[in-house]
Amino acid sequence: MVPGLASSALALALLSVPTQAAALPADPGRAPGPLAGRAVVLDPGHQLGNRSFPEEINRLVPAGGSMKPCNTTGTATRGGYPEATFVWQVSRLVQERLLALGARVVMTRTTNREDRWGPCVDVRGRAGNSLRADLKVSIHADGSYAAGARGFHVIVPPDRAPWTDDIHRPSLRLGRALRADLADAGFPVANYVAGGDGIDVRSDLATLNLSDVPTAMVELGNMRGTDARTMTTPRGRARYARALVAGIRAHLGR
Ligand SMILES: [Zn+2]
Repeated sequence: MVPGLASSALALALLSVPTQAAALPADPGRAPGPLAGRAVVLDPGHQLGNRSFPEEINRLVPAGGSMKPCNTTGTATRGGYPEATFVWQVSRLVQERLLALGARVVMTRTTNREDRWGPCVDVRGRAGNSLRADLKVSIHADGSYAAGARGFHVIVPPDRAPWTDDIHRPSLRLGRALRADLADAGFPVANYVAGGDGIDVRSDLATLNLSDVPTAMVELGNMRGTDARTMTTPRGRARYARALVAGIRAHLGR
């Protein structure tokens, strides 16, 4: 530590006490908010313009032991509301709340536009690794045509060396926290996914396989079924976002 720097930082901290005292009841040197110092990566699935860039999104990229297409178009409700837009809107609500709680938030895409594509799943998978983020949540919705298919499920990476053996346990813990808070918010567990307990362990997703930080992918519901009624309203999206924030906070113990 450089003494001069330390004392000037202290002086700044002391100077800031009178103006920030109301917002900072305890330690005046710390940034406010229960998630201060935490870094969260949010990965809104797909991109609105993906369908207009077939060459780019069909290019094969490393997926963790295999190669997979860079990305896909995602699904949509029967009424044409795209998954890319739904997960973007929910992610922005989650981002806004996490920032207000003091977290650092990294988004894997910062636009939802018809003239954009990607990023590829390998880039999403590595997002957060270099900054050693506390966790990463990939946000998607499903498109099942099965009759009556509805509900959410959470996908986590398996205990599989050398890819995700190091993050399997904390990722499962994160997945369970997200499942608990989505269920608490009144969202039903998916009735069309094998296992049926709301947690699905999968080794085929680059977004999970390439992560070095605890990660889970949420499929918030089935856009082709009755879940669409919730997804297409601002109130419904706010409910999803609140549940995700609660799960993230539970995982972080804040
Ligand atoms: Zn998706």
